[in-house]
Amino acid sequence: RLHNIVQETKGNIRVFCRCRPLSKVETSSGYKCVVDFDGANDGDIGIMNGAKKTFKFDRVYTPKDDQAEVYADASPLVTSVLDGYNVCIFAYGQTGTGKTFTMEGTDRNRGVNYRTLEELFKIAEERKDSVTYNISVSVLEVYNEQIRDLLATSPSSKKLEVKQASEGSHHVPGIVEAKVENISEVWDVLQTGSNSRAVGSNNVNEHSSRSHCMLCIMVRAKNLINGDCTRSKLWLVDLAGSERLAKTDAQGDRLKEAQNINRSLSALGDVISALASRSSHIPYRNSKLTHLLQDSLGGDSKALMFVQISPSDNDVSETLSSLNFASRVR
Ligand code: ADP
Ligand code: MG
Repeated sequence: RLHNIVQETKGNIRVFCRCRPLSKVETSSGYKCVVDFDGANDGDIGIMNGAKKTFKFDRVYTPKDDQAEVYADASPLVTSVLDGYNVCIFAYGQTGTGKTFTMEGTDRNRGVNYRTLEELFKIAEERKDSVTYNISVSVLEVYNEQIRDLLATSPSSKKLEVKQASEGSHHVPGIVEAKVENISEVWDVLQTGSNSRAVGSNNVNEHSSRSHCMLCIMVRAKNLINGDCTRSKLWLVDLAGSERLAKTDAQGDRLKEAQNINRSLSALGDVISALASRSSHIPYRNSKLTHLLQDSLGGDSKALMFVQISPSDNDVSETLSSLNFASRVR
């Protein structure tokens, strides 16, 4: 398997495409795989929908590629965070395609979030004679264009908003920043965050597919040799499902949720393509999502998008829609 790192992509954004395996239910229902992985080593993925349509990405993962392989390609960005760069890693795609599997993973198959933090602490330890690192974590959720702090012990009476600090960086005043010293503390924080995600929703899975789950890791570094201090942050984002709303559901709360998701995902696409075309105006403020990510998209920051897809012929129109979105940002 070729592992040539693609260094230069427009706007410092790399796009990796990951396809999950066909599930048992899909197989037993007679659904077929429509994905052609013959060009996967070169970053090509083909979708057989009548004619074959091919898309090109920085990397293509087949259903056989495991969590360690996926993480290995993302890990250079982790070093970048400790070197002072802002980084953003996010997963985009239809519900059920593996966004949470890629980012959170499972107990036995840890995903990008856990592996990233594990490596951050490992490198920080290796550098401890020359740099002191302070690492803290915030966990939040954006639902219907409202920010919710998942580490807050009591619900905030004040609306959480994104503010720009005097030195230009963006933050959410009042949000909990949990200081973490090692990976087991991180694990506790992540559990707290995911437990409070469930609070107030009668169906956790449905709720989580309609909100953006965002982990922010803030790194403060003090270089012990020259005294330099830097701050950088890493966003790890499990986006709301990109599927279009079924016509039968197009009313009430569901409609409002769908419109907010659509608005924020389009805003994300608009920001990334404005960056790619080196536009003078980048519309970060069109959604809470892009406003929050502002420091980690553009400038000298580095971004990585996982576009997650289903292999099933039953999902082919959503698959094409996700691949088109991802091609537009690349
Ligand atoms: P999403 O977050 O996009 O809605 P999930 O991460 O919940 O999707 O994945 C849906 C199901 O598919 C889960 O049961 C998950 O474990 C499984 N799955 C997703 N990707 C993979 C993969 N690459 N290998 C094995 N199972 C996967
Ligand atoms: Mg999910």
